Amino acid sequence: MIIPTEPDQNGWSGVSLERLAGQLGRLRQTPSTHQPFVTERAQTECVKRNGNYFKRSGVNDGVGVNSACVEERFVVTLTYFPSLNMKTLMVFDFDDTVVDDNSDTWVIRCLPSNTLPDSVKNSYRKGHWTEFMGRVMSYIGDQKVTPEGIRSVMETIPFAPGMTDLLTFISDHKSTIDCIVISDSNTLFIDWILQASGLQAAVDRVFTNPAKFNELGYMEVRCHHSHDCERCPVNLCKRKVLQLFLSEQCARGVEYQRVVYAGDGGNDLCPTSCLGERDVVMPRKGFTLEKLLAKLEDDAPLSARVVAWSSGTAILEELKASMQS
Ligand SMILES: [Mg+2]
Ligand SMILES: [Zn+2]
Repeated sequence: MIIPTEPDQNGWSGVSLERLAGQLGRLRQTPSTHQPFVTERAQTECVKRNGNYFKRSGVNDGVGVNSACVEERFVVTLTYFPSLNMKTLMVFDFDDTVVDDNSDTWVIRCLPSNTLPDSVKNSYRKGHWTEFMGRVMSYIGDQKVTPEGIRSVMETIPFAPGMTDLLTFISDHKSTIDCIVISDSNTLFIDWILQASGLQAAVDRVFTNPAKFNELGYMEVRCHHSHDCERCPVNLCKRKVLQLFLSEQCARGVEYQRVVYAGDGGNDLCPTSCLGERDVVMPRKGFTLEKLLAKLEDDAPLSARVVAWSSGTAILEELKASMQS
């Protein structure tokens, strides 16, 4: 919160640009004066005097300075999101979390034989799943399965129990819930599956391995990024993705009152370590993440609260509680 100095007789009170920028996010300098008034936003005039920026008092300090400046006279549009302090970030793993299976193994159903030859099956090296998927997709291409054929099989993957209700709730509450997916699957599988469900509006961003079809009709999957985390597979450290996303959001003036992280797998452990005590880690009951978290309990417990789930309903309850607190 910015605490301005006492207003003068004209209603101006002082606040330094640093404090404005620090509290409200990045200042974008534009030559405009007033910004249009929009819903949930208000604007206030600021003037620069003796190196300080002054704004009219009586305006509730919100978030996000949209614009500043014309030489000595500054007009700063403060963007108010009354609900911002209430905003929750929902982070989903995808395989065995949003969907009730593994999309990377589900794809094998597009093969007439429904199985991979041993030469491909046995070529997996620990920590190098993306390379392995490259070989799987190239075998599928060799069998002349078309992109449409792969897509239609991927669209049949079932959602985990309660997940469609949960995603529907999220899309109905986009002003208070941001939602991202961080997954070791790939962009094509996730886009197809979310689109087929009609629930893609729930998800703001998907961070996963980029995939595309090459000119020969073979699907290629690349690594999401490179990182130096020793705990994670070479192509993806979900903690790095989450931290980067949170800091980018922060730079835009968006800070979350709570992060809810739902996942099932071993690679969901690393991101849980960057969550704080207001946050909630939700491991799927009976899956790897739950077991790994139970082991942590003894020597290095997480700061975040841990609540296991078997159905999206449990995650929904957690989100609702978070929105009320
Ligand atoms: Mg998973
Ligand atoms: Zn990591």
